[in-house]
Amino acid sequence: MPLPPKLTLISDSRFLHHDTGIDHPELPARLQLILSNLEQNDFFSSLGFHDTRPAERKWLMAAHDEGWLFRFEEAVLSGKTSVDHTDNQICYESYEVATLSAGAGLTAIDLMEQGQARQVFCLVRPPGHHAERNRPFGFCFFNNCVVAARYWQQHYGRQRILVFDFDAHHGNGIQAAFEREADSLYISIHEHPSFSYPGTGYKDETGFGEGRGSILNLPLSPGAGDEQLLALLRGPVEEKIAQWQPDAMIVAAGFDGHRADEMSGLLYSTGVYEKVGQVVRALSNRYCGGRLLSMLEGGYELTVLGESVEAYVRGLLAE
Ligand SMILES: [Zn+2]
Repeated sequence: MPLPPKLTLISDSRFLHHDTGIDHPELPARLQLILSNLEQNDFFSSLGFHDTRPAERKWLMAAHDEGWLFRFEEAVLSGKTSVDHTDNQICYESYEVATLSAGAGLTAIDLMEQGQARQVFCLVRPPGHHAERNRPFGFCFFNNCVVAARYWQQHYGRQRILVFDFDAHHGNGIQAAFEREADSLYISIHEHPSFSYPGTGYKDETGFGEGRGSILNLPLSPGAGDEQLLALLRGPVEEKIAQWQPDAMIVAAGFDGHRADEMSGLLYSTGVYEKVGQVVRALSNRYCGGRLLSMLEGGYELTVLGESVEAYVRGLLAE
């Protein structure tokens, strides 16, 4: 049997059906633009592709209370246009699309565990890292990374799951899920919470009880750029991973730290995402048998989002 492609992408045209209305930054064009940009590249024909599936209720409930599932479903069916906050815009299809977004991670893990993919990047929306057990937050409804982590742990017995998050914002939902557990590790590099949404992610938030040490927050001051990001990746991030020894790695891949993206005060260049891709691929090969799942999170500046994702993909392919 020939080796699977170096990288498999999971996306689906149904992700475009989550309509966030006018003047909302998390819009369907983000994904269209990312995909049309990738299509123009020489490496595109070497990639694998796969559709998503709806996440089974059991796996959504491994990360969320059933009460939130009912509340979300009822909100879309009753024609509401947002849940809990106007940030969280919804339409009639949003519940279904969110289950497809969370299901991408499950499909990805199946492909990797069954030897049909080497690493997977899920190009999904809505994003997930702000969503908490019982509520949506910051454009996020189901926490795609936490759902995937639970599946890897409970369905395939990969106990020690690392989520590394380079979105400009702190993934409060992932931290809340992991902070009392010894077998789950969350590492996040983000703009300092004193200046940035959602206001969590201070360095001294390290976990509770047996989960002490399972959270590593590495906030950057506004104005920080490539050099600071890469120094953290090659320093404390790698040290923690080497010491912790994960069984598999999930990357919350957000691109809103780009200097052109007004969602943060970070000043990353497009090119740094290639280096980030190289480093996470190398870390996954060195420490967890190459089991690497990347999930799209934020990134809202349409003039640079396509090239930023392209750079990250180039990095993932560089092994
Ligand atoms: Zn973000």
